[in-house]
Amino acid sequence: MKRTSLAVAVAGISLVASGCWESPRTVRPADNLNTRNDNVSNTNSNRAANVSNTTQPSNSNMNKTTETGFFANLPTGFQNPTDDVGKKLLREYGSVFVARGGAFPPKTVVFRDESDVSAFQNSLGKTSARIGNFDLELQTAAMAALKDAIADAQKKGLKITPRGADSAKRTYNETVGLWKSRVDPALAHWVGKGRLTQTEADRIRNLPTYEQVKEVLSLEDKGIFFAKDLSKSIIYSVAPPGTSQHLSLLALDVSEFENADVCRILAEHGWFQTVTSDLPHFTYLGAKESELPGLGLKKMSNAGRDFWIPNI
Ligand SMILES: [Zn+2]
Repeated sequence: MKRTSLAVAVAGISLVASGCWESPRTVRPADNLNTRNDNVSNTNSNRAANVSNTTQPSNSNMNKTTETGFFANLPTGFQNPTDDVGKKLLREYGSVFVARGGAFPPKTVVFRDESDVSAFQNSLGKTSARIGNFDLELQTAAMAALKDAIADAQKKGLKITPRGADSAKRTYNETVGLWKSRVDPALAHWVGKGRLTQTEADRIRNLPTYEQVKEVLSLEDKGIFFAKDLSKSIIYSVAPPGTSQHLSLLALDVSEFENADVCRILAEHGWFQTVTSDLPHFTYLGAKESELPGLGLKKMSNAGRDFWIPNI
């Protein structure tokens, strides 16, 4: 899903307090409200019930047009971005927001800072486990589904392991570090090419992170790209600070991502690839593949793999 045009206008990304939400069975608002409190204390013991609920086809979902399907399945109270940058981020990373099966997606496209992220992460039911050589932390339902997938894989002589210590949970500051690792070298490169002055580069480098995201995406509109290879948008290289699905504890970077059998097993347990530029990255959507169109997602193929992205 690489877009040929990055029509990103600079505008304020709407920021909101984050929370959690889940609607395992249907998109009807009344049901969302009714299930919400039950699922705030979601545990392994009730996860099975939630997951089985998600297997019930939602006719009301299926009958919605694809154009409204995704938005109709967003968390109650979700702050839809109104600016172009926020809308773009929703298109690129937004599948996680319709996650089911005991998942609690955030209600905002962008976490503003560490305290915003911490407040959200502290509100979640989380489970830690040592997988491969790393201690991982995920939302409880996501971890349980991952363990089931690992058990299934083992029966077939396959492994599912994380790529590194930061393959599951991340903090806001870790996403800032990753962002800077792309932005700072790119600024130096474009100064060297005469596309930016040193003064402009210094000004951008010293902006508050959140303001810097808008400036960087604005420069990319002019062909000044910030991905590692400097030929495409940075968002195909690293998520802007506060936007990574890893902040939601619903994502995992998998070492064996090139094994189609591993991808299939993960999908059978609700873990799907949802960011087309990021092959090792899997997202817990907590639903069967057949249910994903009803959640407003569409399948895209890239590099021989299937990705489920917002149908917007
Ligand atoms: Zn990832």
